[in-house]
Amino acid sequence: AIDISGLNKWYGSFHVLRNIDLTVRRGERIVVCGPSGSGKSTMIRCINRLEEHQQGRIAVDGIELTSDLKNIDNVRREVGMVFQHFNLFPHLTILENCMLAPVWVRKMPRSQAEEVAMHFLTRVKIPDQARKYPGQLSGGQQQRVAIARSLCMNPKIMLFDEPTSALDPEMIKEVLDTMIQLAEDGMTMVCVTHEMGFAQAVANRVIFMDQGQIVEQNEPAAFFSAPRSERTKLFLGQVL
Ligand code: ATP
Ligand code: MG
Repeated sequence: AIDISGLNKWYGSFHVLRNIDLTVRRGERIVVCGPSGSGKSTMIRCINRLEEHQQGRIAVDGIELTSDLKNIDNVRREVGMVFQHFNLFPHLTILENCMLAPVWVRKMPRSQAEEVAMHFLTRVKIPDQARKYPGQLSGGQQQRVAIARSLCMNPKIMLFDEPTSALDPEMIKEVLDTMIQLAEDGMTMVCVTHEMGFAQAVANRVIFMDQGQIVEQNEPAAFFSAPRSERTKLFLGQVL
């Protein structure tokens, strides 16, 4: 589903991504971890062209990301993204937040968009919050709205960038449970997270990044029990 090869990116003279090769197959669930500043966010933001790369190839379902705006549009149709901060529109209700893109981008009739929105709000277990405003919800609930809102666009791939790191501990579980459910339903997922329990439970593969490189990748059991590189060991010592 995602094909990255020889990816290099610079911010000015700063070489932020170095020779990244990564293939994610349909239905695969990848967890990306690594120290702060290692390039995790930059890498996943390149996948839907929130960041532009300078070298290498990124293709999503065979559509290559170049400066061709049509391709960028097509890739964004397939890829949903959830951030650390939920980025909900505060002046719109939960339901309206979820209907916005289907109505304006997909030209879906409002009645159908509402049906779709309620379907996904039910799936993330907060249909009863539909008429409230984001400010009236807990952080965990808002993040589940953000996930539902993404799902309303029927993405084939979901990218998560530390979706639980801004949440209080008691709300982390409800968001992780939602993500586990999504994984069980077969969604292709790339998740930047330091929730190692989540990685153990759902990842097919864990990727460790440091200084803009993929240093190590392995299936979770081997990754956690027998990390190969010193940098990975050091990192795991800090987060486990
Ligand atoms: P964290 O765990 O803190 O979220 P990260 O692994 O996601 O870190 P990135 O946000 O991808 O790291 O940043 C990688 C490096 O690129 C950092 O050194 C950061 O300071 C730098 N960087 C990120 N965005 C920009 C930008 N727009 N301009 C210049 N440098 C940037
Ligand atoms: Mg980041």
